[in-house]
Amino acid sequence: MKAAPTRTKPGFVPSAAVEHVMRTLAREIDGMELPAVEKISGSQQEDPFQVLIATLLSARTQDATTHAAATRLFRVARTPRRMARLTVKEIEKLIYPVSFYRNKARFVRAASETMVTRFGGSVPTTLEELVSLPGVGRKTATLVLILAFRSRQHVCVDTHVHRIANRLGWVATREPGETEQALYRATEPRWWPYINLYLVTWGQNVCRPVYPRCGDCALAAACLKIGVTKIGKTRASSPLGGTGQPGL
Ligand code: SF4
Repeated sequence: MKAAPTRTKPGFVPSAAVEHVMRTLAREIDGMELPAVEKISGSQQEDPFQVLIATLLSARTQDATTHAAATRLFRVARTPRRMARLTVKEIEKLIYPVSFYRNKARFVRAASETMVTRFGGSVPTTLEELVSLPGVGRKTATLVLILAFRSRQHVCVDTHVHRIANRLGWVATREPGETEQALYRATEPRWWPYINLYLVTWGQNVCRPVYPRCGDCALAAACLKIGVTKIGKTRASSPLGGTGQPGL
């Protein structure tokens, strides 16, 4: 393995440093549990409607809960037309217990109805049209473009991508929208379709929000660890032998 390019301060990110991180992650996430939306996308041949609805359900919800709820829902309705025929109450029952299930049920139905009335029963294919759907923000829209429409022009930034890009020192930003724009400047387009998958998987398994496992992290030599004050125990030193984090 090539050594990580040396960096001591945030700001300019040499393309070799980004390449080192991305290649390391490609290798390291092999065999790790994938995010729920990626799994649903893979099992449904990147169906745009299912990617969009699964992403709506996934906000602030455990992956296993999202996956189970999306599976129940898609057993009943797999297209915008079929979904728009369900009542909000029926959708609520199918997706419970995802967090904010009442709001999400309303958005699932309203977005489906809008696809039927304005987009001929299909998922729209541009960022502008996607964010015009009820409940669909930039994160959902960019993920649909990347996973379902194979866009190579977008980066999907959620809390994991925002946090890790800042810890690595690739960006110095306060919120995900800012991070997305900063990543377009800091990284080459060839990495954009992979940033979400790699960093979300890393964020769920190693670079967690609290007590990141820096001692076990394959990116440690390349990471500036910006903002990291407390790190989790390493696997070897943890009596839990697993995550190394109390209670996790
Ligand atoms: S070294 Fe620590 S902060 Fe940096 S990516 Fe790894 S776990 Fe995250």
